[in-house]
Amino acid sequence: MRIGQGYDVHAFGDGDHVMLGGVRVPHDRGVLAHSDGDVVLHALCDAMLGALALGDIGQHFPPSDERWRGADSRTFLRHCNSLIGERGYRLGNADITVVCERPKVGPHALAMREAIAADLGVEVDAISVKATTSEQLGFTGRREGIAAMAVCLLLRA
Ligand code: MG
Repeated sequence: MRIGQGYDVHAFGDGDHVMLGGVRVPHDRGVLAHSDGDVVLHALCDAMLGALALGDIGQHFPPSDERWRGADSRTFLRHCNSLIGERGYRLGNADITVVCERPKVGPHALAMREAIAADLGVEVDAISVKATTSEQLGFTGRREGIAAMAVCLLLRA
């Protein structure tokens, strides 16, 4: 088995939605990002890459690369999953925590789990998405941005 963890942050900016776990979530802000700024998928990708000791998402998909401008982060997720398969592993499970005051994540959590599971070719119960506020403390508490943490376990295929 191999374990990995990931963390990602994006600042809020102008916009009317945020992408979270591949799901478009209506919000009164967007996020500042080169790609679609999906903190859930970015944290999960980093966890998957970390489990393989293959660096981080910024090395695989550099923000300086115009190919990734506005990119659908599901592309990154599927690529990381293919790296796992190439090395003889499969995703056992993943657990993701979103940290923000708003938008409310709970009503969208199942849709995120389903979208991620579909992209990774695993059962929905292998993917957990949960959320917490930071009790109005820090940058997430001041609603300046949104953060996500992820862990995953890889099993020998
Ligand atoms: Mg990111």
